Amino acid sequence: MQEVILVKDGELALKGLNRSTFEDILIKNLRWKLSELGKFRFEKAQSTIAVYPEDEEIDLDEAADIVGKVFGIVGYSRAAICEKEMQTILRTANEYLGVQLDSVNTFKVESKRSDKKFPYTSPEISRETGGYLLRRHPHLKVDVHHPDLVVNVEVRDKYVFIHGNQEKGAGGMPVGTNGKGMLLISGGIDSPVAGWMMAKRGIELAAVHFASPPYTSKRAEMKVHQLLRKVAVYSGRIRLYTVRFTEIQETIRDNCPEDLFTLVMRRMMMRIASMIAEKENCQALITGESVGQVASQTIFALACTDKAAKYPVFRPCIGMDKTEIIEISRKIDAFDISIEPYQDCCTVFTPKHPRTRPTPELLDETEAAVNWQELLETAANTADVRYISLREED
Ligand code: ATP
Ligand code: MG
Repeated sequence: MQEVILVKDGELALKGLNRSTFEDILIKNLRWKLSELGKFRFEKAQSTIAVYPEDEEIDLDEAADIVGKVFGIVGYSRAAICEKEMQTILRTANEYLGVQLDSVNTFKVESKRSDKKFPYTSPEISRETGGYLLRRHPHLKVDVHHPDLVVNVEVRDKYVFIHGNQEKGAGGMPVGTNGKGMLLISGGIDSPVAGWMMAKRGIELAAVHFASPPYTSKRAEMKVHQLLRKVAVYSGRIRLYTVRFTEIQETIRDNCPEDLFTLVMRRMMMRIASMIAEKENCQALITGESVGQVASQTIFALACTDKAAKYPVFRPCIGMDKTEIIEISRKIDAFDISIEPYQDCCTVFTPKHPRTRPTPELLDETEAAVNWQELLETAANTADVRYISLREED
């Protein structure tokens, strides 16, 4: 029996972006993600995309698993394909869904007929199919309001699709339909979650990581690659800039009051990230900050950080509790990597008593002691650049 995956589009509220563009980007993303399993063909019709495996060996369970992680999909289901002939439809429905029907108590049949030349109306198809299945599974009852299983029969142009209940999709919008953002990624719990949340809204990701060797290790950088790989499962591949931050951090240590170390550092991060964002054609920066979580994330501190950024700073975790962030971190399989204990540059030279009510003016004054421009430009221009994809060898 030939099988396909039927994909239901997500929200299409964005003005100016028509359905066709939205669907084309979604298909491109699906094609990329599914390519690791083999070749697929895609067909758009009636706000559904039918995904046809083209190789015999393709495991449709794995394919469905991948489809469940692509943004822009409300729901999806595996479906059997059959010829447009009533007896064939009845037999296929029973063969394909018989095991499921045996394990439930109630069902109903829902039919759609987009080919009006098909000689049965939708209610007639439902009635025929329902009767046929009831005769073969006499324990079943029809429940039109809350059935355990909905048997769907969709009569299309070329074939009929038959499927059971729909699985919930990843929601959101297809990555690439809402511009591009530069994710500031540390090795912590929050920033990978922040990247995932913005990718969910259709934003393509690039990333920047600040490393301070020898204070931070190669292992810490590998950890960031591993984390981004988890995000890339959802966002598609990510171009990562690893910036050597050592000299800037040492300059901060040597020239700024200790209670402002972290904040000056965060502002320098924003400036470098903005320079790289410009090169990468990004429209926003993304961080994992959450208000009040640490001294550098008080509302006053965040206002100072913002002033150093050239682009809007998206902080999707801003109103979330740590437990809520961790819930997502686990869901995307990043948590166990995030809690590995490697030193991040944020924990180098941390002040004992960071200032929690700084002002932008105070920071401007403090920073005036050094001519930063050249240091920042050098850091931005000498970053290591690489793609992070699903697997190490990609
Ligand atoms: P996270 O769990 O994401 O590390 P955090 O709660 O530990 O966040 P901070 O260490 O203060 O908070 O960092 C706040 C945000 O600044 C991070 O979410 C990340 O976006 C950015 N950031 C921190 N350190 C780095 C780094 N080494 N490279 C790039 N971005 C960083
Ligand atoms: Mg951190």
